[in-house]
Amino acid sequence: MPRTAAEPPVSAGRRAAAGVVALALLVSSACASNPVTGRREVSFLSEAEEIAIGQRGDAEIRREMGVYQDDELQRYVSGVGQRLAVVSHRPSLPWTFTVVDVPAVNAFALPGGYIYVTRGLLAHLGDESELAGVLGHEIGHVTARHASQQFTRSTGGSIGVLLASIFVPGVAPFSDLASAGLGTLFLKYGRDDELESDRLGVEYAARAGWDPESVPRFLTTLSRLDAMSVRGVPNWLSTHPDPGSRVVKAAPVAASQTDSTRDRNRDEFLRRIEGLAYGDDPSEGVVQAHRFRHPDLRIAVDFPEGWDVQNASDQVVAQLEGERVLMLLRAAPEAGGVTLDDGAPKHMRGLGFTLDHGALDSVGGRDAFIGLYHGKVREVGAVRIHAAHISAGRQVFMVAGVAPDADFARVEPEFEAAVRSFRELSSAEAARIRPNRVVLYTAKAGDTWQGIAQRAGRGLVPATRLALMNGYAVNTQPPAGTRLKIVAEG
Ligand SMILES: [Zn+2]
Repeated sequence: MPRTAAEPPVSAGRRAAAGVVALALLVSSACASNPVTGRREVSFLSEAEEIAIGQRGDAEIRREMGVYQDDELQRYVSGVGQRLAVVSHRPSLPWTFTVVDVPAVNAFALPGGYIYVTRGLLAHLGDESELAGVLGHEIGHVTARHASQQFTRSTGGSIGVLLASIFVPGVAPFSDLASAGLGTLFLKYGRDDELESDRLGVEYAARAGWDPESVPRFLTTLSRLDAMSVRGVPNWLSTHPDPGSRVVKAAPVAASQTDSTRDRNRDEFLRRIEGLAYGDDPSEGVVQAHRFRHPDLRIAVDFPEGWDVQNASDQVVAQLEGERVLMLLRAAPEAGGVTLDDGAPKHMRGLGFTLDHGALDSVGGRDAFIGLYHGKVREVGAVRIHAAHISAGRQVFMVAGVAPDADFARVEPEFEAAVRSFRELSSAEAARIRPNRVVLYTAKAGDTWQGIAQRAGRGLVPATRLALMNGYAVNTQPPAGTRLKIVAEG
């Protein structure tokens, strides 16, 4: 627009000066126009270099995360992405759109036009326009060269800083990737970059014929997800702009796109994601309601009914909503050295807990040491622990319940029952473990999220999660006749 061209932002002069210094230091760098703003800025990367970096990162992503195995769904997501790419500021990039086999809710981009969404994100979108809004946001990071600018600012010059995650609620699979070597690929964009991408997502979605209100709508879902993010998981708010404030910024931009056709394509979208795998990959263990089963380790534990069970890379954590009471299941290899009655207390001492009393026992037909321990936990204070160390196969597993002193007597029977539920799976049982899947359900008059979660959903995921997946607050009930996504056993 002529008006902005006549009134350059105040920072332009300083930016130009910095550019001169950088140019003097690195003669090979070029001064190029930003495809989105039209402003000239120092770019250390040519388009060919951006693409080359994207290609290398893409191979790594495919190897580390895995591509979700559903060609029809991949083609569908790619089709939505390509429609956006052609109306973007850089239509000639070799754009690719890939669904990665990751349960966490996320989307990210590599320079050169490589865009990814997780299957977990697809399960939380309401319709095709929301998918378009998220892909448009990621396309925006590429067209506005956010990652390339970060690359320019970084000193190392390795590919390590080039992949950014935007919609991360900091869920376990991504912290797992850090240890797998991919972690350094994740880059935090600045708040301004995120807001610019939100605006570009709105713009591209509207230009391609989708309802641009999808961007603030999905940001609302993200802020609900953030609000219910589980304790012990890094808080999204600490690393990303608050999705609530992004809603406030994106909503008027979306509302201003009055001439767009506002296509939402909800039915088509739901049909495409029906049967989508939901939650953990079975090879890493499966949580179904309060039950945990691991087909490769061939073990199963039933945590107390109604508790929230989270499967992380190194342990399973079960918690009672709103209470500082939890149970853990984890491998305890250091407890298996000599004998269990020696190794178990030693293992617990290493964690800072002292044995009060304990004895050798048998759990699920396996040798075990069950002990009562005490100690201190940060932010909780004095706790007591009921822990079993169980020798199964060539491993020792620990199943433990931890509670503040004052609550321990009340919850110990539940700890005891969960510990006693530990058992080994037969190969036939292990082979039958299937992932949970997204299925469709039509709301009936009088349905509540609680009722749907318990009956149709058989308690596999809680009511709060079902409401969130469908874009509702949990205190708003679903209107009769509405097609909803629920989670069922595959
Ligand atoms: Zn972003």
